[in-house]
Amino acid sequence: MQRVRTRYAPSPTGHLHIGNARTALFSYLFARRHGGDFILRIEDTDIERNVVGGEYNQMEGLKWLGIEWDESVDKGGPYGPYRCLERLDLYQEHVKKLLDEGKAYKSYSTPEELEKERQEQLAKGLAPKYSGWDRDLTPEEQAKYEAEGRVPSIRLRVPEGQTIRFVDAVRGEVKFDSDGIGDFVIMRPDGRPTYNFACVVDDVAMKITHVIRGEEHISNTPRQLLVYQALGYPVPQFAHIPLILNPAGKKMSKRDESIVQFIEQYKQLGYLPEALVNFMTLLGWAPEGEEEIFSLEELCQLFSLERISKAPAIFDTNKLKWMNNHYIKKSPLERIVELALPYFEKAGRLTLPLDKEKREWISQVISLYQEQLDEIGRIVELSDLFFREEIEYTKEGQQILEAEQVPAVLKAFLSELDQVEEFTPNVIKKALKKVQKATGCRGKSLFMPIRVAATGQAQGPDLSQTLSLIGLDQVKKRVQQALEQKVDSGSSSI
Ligand code: GLU
Repeated sequence: MQRVRTRYAPSPTGHLHIGNARTALFSYLFARRHGGDFILRIEDTDIERNVVGGEYNQMEGLKWLGIEWDESVDKGGPYGPYRCLERLDLYQEHVKKLLDEGKAYKSYSTPEELEKERQEQLAKGLAPKYSGWDRDLTPEEQAKYEAEGRVPSIRLRVPEGQTIRFVDAVRGEVKFDSDGIGDFVIMRPDGRPTYNFACVVDDVAMKITHVIRGEEHISNTPRQLLVYQALGYPVPQFAHIPLILNPAGKKMSKRDESIVQFIEQYKQLGYLPEALVNFMTLLGWAPEGEEEIFSLEELCQLFSLERISKAPAIFDTNKLKWMNNHYIKKSPLERIVELALPYFEKAGRLTLPLDKEKREWISQVISLYQEQLDEIGRIVELSDLFFREEIEYTKEGQQILEAEQVPAVLKAFLSELDQVEEFTPNVIKKALKKVQKATGCRGKSLFMPIRVAATGQAQGPDLSQTLSLIGLDQVKKRVQQALEQKVDSGSSSI
């Protein structure tokens, strides 16, 4: 069998979109599964849409996800250059061949004329299609138009009455009628190829065997097949992967705010790359069993085109959070700490670098929340109570403090606190036992008021660890305050 070669061919027009990242991922996984090559090609011929840093953003996004390419602009390779604008000679050669063989022609319509033609067709209720008036001009007529200052674009001569067929690895047989396709531009007047032309020339030149891309490109495929046909090249295997719909089951637009759309944003929110990779693979692909958790390495062994679904994939944000939480829980604490520190710094909670003691302290604080974190960035709000001078009671917390036994519990706890020196979880546990003895309160009626007094909240991680990390002085101060507010509200209600 031919060596499998796939490619991801982004236009450098911005950040790495989750849909494109999935296309790259599927192409990558397929190449790895078959021991083949994965190529990153930069399709930069649409210069009006290119943005500075667009190429870099694509590459950084892929690297972060762990999607490694074998050939591209940075590492070179046997079929470079890997930026389309650096391959203009190759497109020119192909255009020349098509012109010589009469399969393409010089076309002289100006943009204004094209627009007029389009409007006239629309007014007649026809689907716009190039009229082809200049298909068969004589060299003299061509010279006349050129003398007028018109610079020709090159159009492919599209045969009429042909059914264009291909067998898509996902969608099965797909047919298009060539009559719906007018002669289309393959090279612009300034010598830049159009996407449908460059894509074919490059896929052939780079020996691409499988073109795996989003379903939104399926309407381009018949044009590309016409180019293959005109050039007499063998056609690769196409696999058009299903659309990703937003959580409401609607088509996503770039401005859809119901989901986070760019890989960079996920990184900023504190998603782990392995969670995104796992999640994206399941957007349109399904493994054989029930298992849903897969590492990139495992996916490289399992991925197959046969198990890509035809139906659109619905983006389930809760599932992504669940997966991220899964990978956060599984990670060594040190890794989560490293990733969490910048959020604390940004929020003004910590100044980096930290000394040893402070680092140990923040590591322990973070460890309290590791089980429940679904976005690392959320650690700042979750751990808020460790950084505040003044805490606020939640509504539930307030109610807990209003119970009858509370002053006795808090007073007893305060007097225990006056006697402790070290403030470790063990010492705190012992102190709580003593409070239990002194007051006769146990379980919730003992722990809840103390938790609320010290944290403001009715729920939270392990109580003695939490108190220990808040620190003795703060805990004392907070319990004292809770007691005072209890006494105040008690007296005001008399
Ligand atoms: N440059 C195209 C895009 O960004 C590539 C399409 C293809 O894979 O053929 O969508």
